[in-house]
Amino acid sequence: MAVSSSSSSSSSSSSSSPSRNLKIGIVGFGPFAQFLAKIMIKQGHTLRATSRSDHSSLCQDLGISFFRDTGTFLEANNDVILICTSILSLSKVLNTMPLHCLKRSPLFVDVLSVKEYPRDILLKVLPEELDVLCTHPMFGPESGKNGWKDLAFMYERVRIKDEATCSSFLRIFETEGCRMLEMSCEEHDMVAARSQFLTHTIGRILSEMEVKPTSMSTKGFETLIHLKESTMKDSSDLFSGLFVYNRFAKQELKNLELSLEKVKQMLQDKMTEEQNLNESKF
Ligand code: NAP
Repeated sequence: MAVSSSSSSSSSSSSSSPSRNLKIGIVGFGPFAQFLAKIMIKQGHTLRATSRSDHSSLCQDLGISFFRDTGTFLEANNDVILICTSILSLSKVLNTMPLHCLKRSPLFVDVLSVKEYPRDILLKVLPEELDVLCTHPMFGPESGKNGWKDLAFMYERVRIKDEATCSSFLRIFETEGCRMLEMSCEEHDMVAARSQFLTHTIGRILSEMEVKPTSMSTKGFETLIHLKESTMKDSSDLFSGLFVYNRFAKQELKNLELSLEKVKQMLQDKMTEEQNLNESKF
């Protein structure tokens, strides 16, 4: 059941083609979807949402129609269905979606932090006539809190027939000044395993070590504390998803372990060398 509907205002665009206000249906209204929704509303798009939990009160405050029933949500006239669920729940969410309720053929977009996995599921579950755009806004509520200018937005046009709707969706991020990166889902996962997964893993390790600011914190140490704190704001489902559903992450974890072993060995060798030197002196 719809709780309320959004108001709209005209949006601006940095691109030469005319901008269009979209009707965007969000699946999974967690922290990241809420963060994206605020900018989309500001740009004048009409939002609807459905989610496992009841977010109707928050949606009402934001002027978004919230649907408890996924079938009714899909029956609404959406230009875009934006998948914002956790990586771990994607398969269940898509496989239980009553796609027969769709009254038209919206563009399906996902924002998951891994890319080969949602691409494969979307292509498997969705009928041929539905377009698929895989994206990863490479920022979140923390790093994007002061705007999205120069922040990276990765995307692959996986199966696009309706160019106009796809371009209008991408323009949401162009308009905010994002660095638009068109690349394959495979390339994304390879690069993200080295950068994003590594960053999150180091942050989680620092959290396990319970590092805290001290009276003699150096700038470098403050950077580590910041890394730990920003990483721990993301859910553990998100972190696990980065590992379980990115085939390149396993090798990065091995590289991390091997590198720690090498550093330990180098220190051990140095200690032995120093001890031998000291013993020979006295
Ligand atoms: P998340 O923990 O990855 O996902 C939370 C969302 O998943 C909520 O909407 C939640 O629904 C839904 N969900 C979790 N388990 C579910 C289940 N068993 N069945 C159905 N729905 C389930 O947190 P997030 O930060 O909001 O991220 C959402 C997506 O955006 C993820 O795929 C993430 O990789 C991607 N992303 C996040 C960031 C970021 O900075 N946070 C940046 C880029 C991309 P309810 O709220 O209804 O419980």
